Amino acid sequence: MAKIMLAKNKEMRVESGHPWIFRSDIQHVAGNPQPGDIVEVYSHQNRFLGKGYYNPVSQITIRMLTRQDEDINREFLYQRILRAWEYRQKVADTESCRVVFAESDFLPALIVDKFSDILVVQTLALGIDRYKAEIVDILSEIIQPRGIYERNDVPVRELEGLPQQKGFLSAPFDTRVEMVENGIKFLVDVENGQKTGFFLDQKENRAALKPLVKNGRVLDCFSHTGSFALHAAYYGAREVVGVDISAHAVACAEHNARLNGLEQTARFKEANAFDLLRNYADQKERFDTVILDPPAFTKTKSAVEGAVRGYKEINLRAMKLINEGGFLVSCSCSQHIDNGLFMNILHEAARDAKRAVRLIEFRSQAKDHPILMASRETQYIKCALMQVF
Ligand code: SAH
Repeated sequence: MAKIMLAKNKEMRVESGHPWIFRSDIQHVAGNPQPGDIVEVYSHQNRFLGKGYYNPVSQITIRMLTRQDEDINREFLYQRILRAWEYRQKVADTESCRVVFAESDFLPALIVDKFSDILVVQTLALGIDRYKAEIVDILSEIIQPRGIYERNDVPVRELEGLPQQKGFLSAPFDTRVEMVENGIKFLVDVENGQKTGFFLDQKENRAALKPLVKNGRVLDCFSHTGSFALHAAYYGAREVVGVDISAHAVACAEHNARLNGLEQTARFKEANAFDLLRNYADQKERFDTVILDPPAFTKTKSAVEGAVRGYKEINLRAMKLINEGGFLVSCSCSQHIDNGLFMNILHEAARDAKRAVRLIEFRSQAKDHPILMASRETQYIKCALMQVF
C-alpha cells in the first residue's frame, strides 16, 4: 500500500479528527497510488496517522477513513453503515431520515437518504464511488429497502474527475415516493427533485413551528415542495401562503397540500421571494408568522459579503410584514455564515426594520445530520426562532 508523508506540522488537523488532507499538506508520496486507492498516511516524523482514500486530481487529496491500522474492506464499510443506521434508530424517526451523513459518519463523501422504503445515494468523491456496488449491497442487507436510486448529478463530482449521473441502483421503481414527516405526507421526486429530493435536515425545525402558528396567517418563503407551509397548516394556521421561484417546486407543493387535505388552508405561488416581500410591504399585507428558508446564498468564502446582504434584505423585509408579537423563523444553510455572523445579520435587519426582535430559540440541523466537532463545516443549518414587536 502506498504511503503518504505529510509536510512538517501538517498532521495537526488530522490528529484533531478532521478527515481532509489537502494537496499542499503532502510532502512525499511513496509507492504509486492510483486515483481512488487507499493509502497510509504518516506525519513528517513518520508517525502513522491512519488510512484514507487518495485522489491527486482533487484539492482534497486524501479523505481519512480511519485513524486505526485496519483493513478497508466490505466488513469495514458494513460496520460503519451499521453504526450509522443504529444511531438513526436511536435519535430519529427512520420512516424518513438521513442514514449516512458523510464525514460526520466517518464515511467521507457518502450521503444516504431514506424516504419511506426507498434509499437515495450520493457518492461525491472518487475513493468512495469505487465502493458504490458494495455500499448498495450492504444497504440492501441492513435496511432492505424496496429500491435504491443514485443522485450523482451534482457538479462537485467534477472536482473529483467523476461524471454527473443518476439512475437506479436496484430494480426500477416509481421515482415519485410518498413518505411521512412529522405526521404529514409528502411526495418526494427522487429522480428530479432538488438534491436527493427532499431536505431532511430541517425536519426538527419544521416541528418547532407547532407553538408559533395556531390560528395565524403564515408566509413561507422559499417553500420548495411545501414542507414548512404544510407543517404550519397541519399545526392549525388559519391561512398559509408558500412562495417559490421554481414551477416544479410549486406544483409539488400543491400536490402535497392535496395529499393532506390542506389545500383550502395552504396555497402556493410561483414568484421571486425578494420581489414578493417588497410587494407585500407596499400592499400593507401582514402575517403572524413568516418563515425564511432560502437556498445557500454562498457556496464559497469569497461570496460571503453578497450573501450577507441577501440575508439581511429578506429578513428586514420579512420583519416589516409581521404583526406585533408575531414570529419570524429564519434559516440559513450557508456553511460560510457561522452562528455569530447570522445573529449579527438578524440584529442589523431588526435595527433597520425598526422592530424589536427577541430570539426565542436558536436551532441547527436535525440529529440525523450530526456535527463533527473536528470539522465545523459539517454544521451548516442555522434556524433562529424570533418574536417581533
Ligand atoms: N424550505 C424548503 C427548502 C428550500 S430550498 C424545504 O424545507 O423543503 C430553497 C428553495 O428556494 C428552492 O426550492 C428554490 O427553488 C427556491 N428559490 C431560490 N431562489 C428563490 C427566489 N429568489 N425566490 C423564491 N424562491 C427561490
